[in-house]
Amino acid sequence: MNSWIEIEADSDFSLDNIPFGIGLIPGSGKCICTRIGNTVINLAGMAKLGYFDHPGFRVSDFEKPVLNDFIANGKKSACRVRTIIQECFTKGIVSDSDMSLIRQIALHKASEIQMLMPLQVGDYTDFYSSMEHATNVGMMFRDPANALLPNWKHIPVGYHGRASSILVSGAEVHRPKGQIKPADAASPVLSPTLQLDFELETAFVIGKGNSLGDSISTSEAEDYIFGMLLFNDLSARDIQSWEYVPLGPFLSKNFASVISPWVVTLEALEPFRCAGPVQQPEVLPYLRFEGERNFDLKLEVLIKPGTGSEVSVCKSNFNYMYWNMSQQLAHHTVNGCNMRVGDVCGSGTISGPVEGSYGSMLELSWKGTKPLQLPDGSERKFINDNDTVIMRGFGEKDGIRVGFGEAAVTVLPAKQG
Ligand code: CA
Repeated sequence: MNSWIEIEADSDFSLDNIPFGIGLIPGSGKCICTRIGNTVINLAGMAKLGYFDHPGFRVSDFEKPVLNDFIANGKKSACRVRTIIQECFTKGIVSDSDMSLIRQIALHKASEIQMLMPLQVGDYTDFYSSMEHATNVGMMFRDPANALLPNWKHIPVGYHGRASSILVSGAEVHRPKGQIKPADAASPVLSPTLQLDFELETAFVIGKGNSLGDSISTSEAEDYIFGMLLFNDLSARDIQSWEYVPLGPFLSKNFASVISPWVVTLEALEPFRCAGPVQQPEVLPYLRFEGERNFDLKLEVLIKPGTGSEVSVCKSNFNYMYWNMSQQLAHHTVNGCNMRVGDVCGSGTISGPVEGSYGSMLELSWKGTKPLQLPDGSERKFINDNDTVIMRGFGEKDGIRVGFGEAAVTVLPAKQG
């Protein structure tokens, strides 16, 4: 598809993508936007010009602080909006005078638009679905000979996270404080974490709710998934290792998680669908599924020290996931738990099979025993103050590229006092 808007060959935001986000538009406030190349398209502006009259959208439908209502209208109507945008921005469809009207009313340079938190997230769940990650963590913290716990290949293990501290890319986060217990100390101390970490994850966004008491089967699951995001589940490892027994992570995880601003629809990711790892032993019937349910999405983590330039520290792929999103959602609701539009489910850290593909500093530096050397001469066991952690991800196949942009967060020193 050839657009009349410039799109660089390596842009995440091709005509095949058309994700949805919330932009702060000068003079109009918060609006639902999409992006092509380096151009943000204000969909409220497009509605003003009448492009969405046919599906019956009003301008006010796009003048929204979050995407929840738009998503709740259903995939069909979101897909209709995507199709209209794809047509309209394909070369040769609209007239020169219409193009100039669109430029005037609806187009903005991406560098000039602040992207905001796209969702009102009611609930956030984090899974633990990469076998490589679970194995690495099990080897470090428990028993190398029995790294995976007995339940792991039977249950998509997860826990309920904290929705209030999910932030959008560009956020600054102070190094959190909490209880840590140094190995040689008799008692814990209150301290800024010394082991601040990222977790390379994606997340899926719930697009349709189920009633309390009802379950979602693996065959229905993708109807309930609106799209995906990059997700950095920031973690404080020293706080985590002291507090997590017996109920799991608490303050080590709930201080901040960071998402990319554009929700990429499942439809846009269709070209990258692929088979996942073989599941052995066979899973229970409610977790079995038909067809290919994984996606080939390349993921990368970079660290940008305060005054330095970006350094790539990890390259992984979403297709390493042992448990797929359909299984996660079927498991989440098998007890009748109700999902709501805008809920977010994190994949869990996505580690690959080789060292450079590990999705956390915990694994990359093997608990601090193998520090990473940065080109500026510094080393990293975990994340330093003033580091910016950047996650990127995209699918690419047969000349089609669809990506997420980035999820970036800068770590500030701990607050005093
Ligand atoms: Ca996590």
